Amino acid sequence: MSVTKSNTAVLKNYINGEWVNSLSSQTLDVPDPATDELLTKVPVSSKEDVNLAVAAAKEAFQSWKNVPVPKRARIFYKYHTLLTENHEELARLIVQENGKAYKEAYGEVQRGIECVEFACGAPTLMMGETLSGIAEEIDSEMFRYPLGVVGGITPFNFPMMVPLWMFPLAIACGNTFVLKPSERTPILANRLVELFTRAGAPKGVLNIVHGAHDVVNGLLEHKDIAAISFVGSQPVAKYVYERAAAEGKRVQALSGAKNHHIVMPDADMDKAVQHIISSTFGSAGQRCMACSAVVVVGDNEPFVQALRKKADELIMGNGMDEEVLLTPVIRKEHREKVLGYIEKGVTEGAELIRDGRKEMDDHPSGNFLGPTIFDHVTPEMTIARDEIFAPVLSLLRAKDLDEGLEYIRRSRYGNGATIYTNNAKAIRQFREEADAGMLGINVGVPATMAFFPFSGWKDSFYGDMHVNGKDGVNFYTRKKMITSRFDA
Ligand code: NAD
Repeated sequence: MSVTKSNTAVLKNYINGEWVNSLSSQTLDVPDPATDELLTKVPVSSKEDVNLAVAAAKEAFQSWKNVPVPKRARIFYKYHTLLTENHEELARLIVQENGKAYKEAYGEVQRGIECVEFACGAPTLMMGETLSGIAEEIDSEMFRYPLGVVGGITPFNFPMMVPLWMFPLAIACGNTFVLKPSERTPILANRLVELFTRAGAPKGVLNIVHGAHDVVNGLLEHKDIAAISFVGSQPVAKYVYERAAAEGKRVQALSGAKNHHIVMPDADMDKAVQHIISSTFGSAGQRCMACSAVVVVGDNEPFVQALRKKADELIMGNGMDEEVLLTPVIRKEHREKVLGYIEKGVTEGAELIRDGRKEMDDHPSGNFLGPTIFDHVTPEMTIARDEIFAPVLSLLRAKDLDEGLEYIRRSRYGNGATIYTNNAKAIRQFREEADAGMLGINVGVPATMAFFPFSGWKDSFYGDMHVNGKDGVNFYTRKKMITSRFDA
């Protein structure tokens, strides 16, 4: 990606209810991953831009926190209607800047809308607790209050869903928000804020500062930011967690993944193949819940052959074409890194049974890479350990379920894992022993919905309270305990 000094067609930040130019003149190109066409430029904003946004959010918090909770929720009912009315347009914007297939983008918009639905429940979600008679004529009550200004930092792979994991619930709980969207997919964020403003959000309640590291560091350092919600790659998640925590902030940092799918000998092979193909190659493998390692239990050559055949049949192309499942990766630089992993897999002795590099020449524009499958991968190989975040799959062989579960335990990541079987004993053993936070039983992408926490383990998550569900409410509120004596 090239850094330019131009100020033409540059996205604006949204601060205190106004669309404003960044104070920085540095910009980054935002190309369409499928065509290389330049869509827009995004400002690489400075810490001064962050300071302006945080000041606006701090000011807005003084009145927003006192708006009755049902009245706050009503803005989200309106927002829900607007997002629903614009569902198709939002999905098209995702395809354009992220590259994923329209059907996937449409589904992503739906997942985002569901987060808004959840936030509409703020009056119930924010209820406290009471106990009369904790001692003679003494009662205790717990009330929930917002934290203040919350900062949100989001990745490229879900430009709609991930921001909506954060700001609707945070704001419905009475906080104000500064969002730093991914600099690689910044366009949709501005549309989200436009619609939120139309829904009636007062100025300063939601602000957007575009950019990269400086904006992130500006948020992490700022004394008026009470909490940070982060989603992105592992090294950055760890950095954000440590840095924000050291600054005394509440922090939730969702991180990278390496999701294992165990195929038991009794599994319905057609269905297993179908789920694994769409989990691995959908969104070009750029999902934190994508399958990236399959553990084949027993000597199951028919399954491996069927998987390879299905991969051969995949249609690769522009996400707006209906029959396409395999779309480009986000940037050429990312594809270069992935090609390095493929080389490494070969060097370390894995068997490359489908080489997607061959299909790159069919697509001179865009960042395409064909479905790539390695067989006989062992857990210590780099391609088995690292998150590659691309249409590259590793097949590991295991003699039984115990060995498959051991592979999952050895992974530093623990976002998701799936088993394909109809055997009750195996299902139970998997549920009890698989070392990951979101499990699928015959489900290819066992991502949770907005009313449950998105629950990664190990290096897939840093913090205590996850996004969404009751965890989300706990994260965005603090509790006050009132103890009252009535014998006076
Ligand atoms: P990324 O870490 O490159 O970027 C995420 C955010 O951090 C962006 O806003 C970016 O500007 C910022 N950033 C990047 N490098 C930084 C640095 N050195 N210092 C400060 N800020 C920095 O992640 P990405 O490539 O945009 O997203 C893909 C990653 O996100 C994958 O690892 C994926 O697994 C992960 N992810 C995880 C979940 C989850 O729920 N666990 C969900 C979605 C994505």
